[in-house]
Amino acid sequence: MPEPTSAELDLLLELQATDHRVRKLRHQLEDLPEQRQLQATLARAGELDRQHDDLRIELERTSSRQRQLEREVEVLTERRDAERARLYDGSVANAREMKAVEAEIETTVRRIDEHEELLLEVLEQVDALEATAATLVADEEAARTRAAELERARDEAAMHLLAELGELEADRARRAASLPEDLLRRYEEAADRAGGTGVGKLVDNSCTACRLSMSRADVGELLAGPPLTTCPSCRRLLVVPE
Ligand SMILES: [Zn+2]
Repeated sequence: MPEPTSAELDLLLELQATDHRVRKLRHQLEDLPEQRQLQATLARAGELDRQHDDLRIELERTSSRQRQLEREVEVLTERRDAERARLYDGSVANAREMKAVEAEIETTVRRIDEHEELLLEVLEQVDALEATAATLVADEEAARTRAAELERARDEAAMHLLAELGELEADRARRAASLPEDLLRRYEEAADRAGGTGVGKLVDNSCTACRLSMSRADVGELLAGPPLTTCPSCRRLLVVPE
């Protein structure tokens, strides 16, 4: 196998740089911040929706209690009026009976007051629940609007990255096609073995792939050897500059 030319080795290092950028872009696409924000926002909207459902149930219960109290006040008021009418319609025969009717009226009036007090409390509860429900609805609506914005932003970000990725992949294919087949195969095998980085370059006294520094003796040996060898530390291909 002939030694690769320095132009081929430059191309190999460019290919490595392109592969690195492709990997980075793919990773970025899989982990878009807009997507993470979108998921969090949708989760928040769902939570607000659940809270609103719970609140509706409580509101229905409280409203039904309100209607019940209103009916009771109505019934008691009718009773009070009927009792009062009895005082004057001549149906009460004597003073003792009169006293009894007056006592009944008193009791009924007291019960009306108690019911009205309760009703006031329940009406306040209904008001508070309705205000909270309105806030929840508004918050959920805002979250859904935000989610729609984030979805658009995510799609736009993904579109840009995909366009860039397309260009990089075309570059990659062009560079790969210009390399001798055997050199490309060795690089790809090394890259598969070593997490995507298949070639480093000797710069000063270390390999750019693994960044481990070598002894002066090792460096001297590498400099005296062929322009493409294997890194003694990481076993990747190593380009040794002339
Ligand atoms: Zn190395």
